Amino acid sequence: MNVRSIRTRLTIWYTSLLTITLLILGGAAFGLLSYSLSHEMDTALDSVARAMVQRDQSRPSTLLPAEIDKAFRRYFGFSPWDHYFQMRDPSGNRDEHMSLPSSGKLPLSSKALDNAMRGLSSFETVEGLGEYPVRILTMPVMDSSRVINLIQVGMSLKSIDETRLRFLLIIAGVLPLGLVLAASGGWLLAHRALKPVDRMTAAARRISAEHLSQRVDETGTGDELDNLAKTLNQMLTRLDAAFSQVRRFSADASHELQTPLTILKGELEVALRSTRTPQEYRITLESALEEVDRIAHLVDALLLLARAEAGVLKMDMQEVDLAQVLEEIYLRLKPLADSHNVELRLGSIEPLCINGDRERLQRMTSNVVDNAIKYTGAQGNITLELHSENGLASILVSDTGIGIPVEEREQIFQAFYRSSQARSLAAQGTGLGLSIAQSIALAHGGTIQVESAPGRGSSFRIQIPISPIRIF
Ligand code: ADP
Repeated sequence: MNVRSIRTRLTIWYTSLLTITLLILGGAAFGLLSYSLSHEMDTALDSVARAMVQRDQSRPSTLLPAEIDKAFRRYFGFSPWDHYFQMRDPSGNRDEHMSLPSSGKLPLSSKALDNAMRGLSSFETVEGLGEYPVRILTMPVMDSSRVINLIQVGMSLKSIDETRLRFLLIIAGVLPLGLVLAASGGWLLAHRALKPVDRMTAAARRISAEHLSQRVDETGTGDELDNLAKTLNQMLTRLDAAFSQVRRFSADASHELQTPLTILKGELEVALRSTRTPQEYRITLESALEEVDRIAHLVDALLLLARAEAGVLKMDMQEVDLAQVLEEIYLRLKPLADSHNVELRLGSIEPLCINGDRERLQRMTSNVVDNAIKYTGAQGNITLELHSENGLASILVSDTGIGIPVEEREQIFQAFYRSSQARSLAAQGTGLGLSIAQSIALAHGGTIQVESAPGRGSSFRIQIPISPIRIF
């Protein structure tokens, strides 16, 4: 038994509290029992004494022991125990004819005598008369406010002591038994209540990075343990998603790198197979350089995403004129738009400066504008706008292109995601443009959102705080 287990501690607490409660209750019951037994005894003694006083006042002659026994029986219901009766004159001298022979040793204390002389009764408990202490009542017999006799009645406390002892024995026997039963019951209950924790622990031990699809059992009872199981399962779902994302990212990254590397390798192998003219070598090297550029571009993008994800993206913060950035992008991408027969225009541009990394802000915006050019068919148009809205610089890139279905609006920001329509429309593309744009916006404490009507166009809204909190 592990003393530190919740099960054991619960049982120990429960049993200790029960022991204290039972001891307090037992003590209180014992006190109450003793009190009521003593009270009953005093009441009965008082009744016997009063009966004898009456008898003495009405017929002051010899009292027969049978008469005394009868009075004891009447008020005690039995008289097997040692009982005492004796009459004394006001000086305290014993009247042999009016006493039970056994009562010769019944003492008269000076206090009881004094009380009697003042017309008061006294109760006393004396030891040494027999095996058990004796309860004595000394009562004066009065004749018009004059004490004519003293009556002493006594009863052995044997019955009271035996009853109290019996009670103690019962408590001493029942209490440990009750406690053993209660402790076992408590242990079993705690064991049952905590069983799901054992199951959860075993399930959690089985779950590793490779088995994140497994879940711990939910009891469905809605109690604390069920809530814990649900929370664990939700955490596992999140972990599973995160691990899958990392795995997908690695697989996609490897795949994206593999294609240009294969092309590069093929070109170089072909070039080496036979002797070529310098012109042919030049063409091969230029083509190889293109592939190396693609690889470098891809690795740079992956590095940026990895750093942003890890929160270690270095930012060259400075005051950036956003209107100027948009105009530069417009001028740089206008020829590309023209070649696609798409009209790229500048809408309303508010002069706005923010604190940011100029190069990255340029990259973020041109990724979005570049997409707009790729996914807007001929005769379409794209508008760039810049406004300030509630302390935010808002860059709006609207196009009249293919649009984005609702179910894809979350996915387009995931690395390597490309819709099938996008793939067929623009062969060029890695699926990293929007994730990079989002990472840069986040790094500036901003957001990027999309609204779209499939078939009619999309609007990307990038919002950056004008005095951004520096996150990285
Ligand atoms: P890429 O453009 O290289 O495919 P991105 O990350 O830039 O990768 O974009 C991800 C996907 O988002 C695109 O493949 C396309 O499906 C969708 N998308 C992005 N911009 C637009 C847009 N302006 N109109 C329609 N679809 C878009």
